[in-house]
Amino acid sequence: MDGWSEVGDGVFVGRYREWDLTVGLVLGDTGCLVVDTRADRAQGAELASAVRAVTPLPWTVLLTHHHFDHCLGLPAFLPCPVWAHERCAAHLRAPGGDAAVPDHPLTGHAAVDLGGRRVRLHHPGPAHTDNDVLAHVPDAGVVFAGDLVEHVPGGSFSAESFEDVTHLAQWPAALDALLALAPRVVVPGHGDPVGPDFVASARDELAALIHLRRERDSGALTTDEAVARAPLPPPVAGAALR
Ligand SMILES: [Zn+2]
Repeated sequence: MDGWSEVGDGVFVGRYREWDLTVGLVLGDTGCLVVDTRADRAQGAELASAVRAVTPLPWTVLLTHHHFDHCLGLPAFLPCPVWAHERCAAHLRAPGGDAAVPDHPLTGHAAVDLGGRRVRLHHPGPAHTDNDVLAHVPDAGVVFAGDLVEHVPGGSFSAESFEDVTHLAQWPAALDALLALAPRVVVPGHGDPVGPDFVASARDELAALIHLRRERDSGALTTDEAVARAPLPPPVAGAALR
């Protein structure tokens, strides 16, 4: 990481070359929140040192969802309170999952008190996965979105975004829930922070894909025709419409 960028008062973003991952750090008066922990124990330990270069305050961890690149650095932070959606905990507990699991599972909303500042956690419904959690820092106008918001060269989504397309129909509503928080800055799980306009465009791209999928399912379009009309690069649209 080439150092933290401060995107709001006491709200930091760190970018890593590995997996192009973006992590977060929110400072309060008595504690700090670390958003995602990187892909393995060594990377987690490197992140923990980077946090300690900023603050000696005790940390709480939020895992935005169960994908390994966001989660498997967790052991480097333990013991500490770990928030995540209850289904994230279930995925991590599954055979082959990491032994370290969140001890503060949530299903809808929760708040983390950092002393003089509360970070609000929201599950906006199924979208990128069935266990996405947003971290909203209201006093700074910042939302950490995990992979609910992504950007890759040539589009807002990678083909991997649609690994599980069962949630595609609900994804635009989840982005509307994010926009309803009126963020000034939205921090994706990969890549640079964006503004609300970017999120609105991503929502519109998804809505267009959903429309094309419906047309294809009704027989009005072939899959190839739907992919050709999609507002996203063919490999990405193909993954979503497959
Ligand atoms: Zn992911």
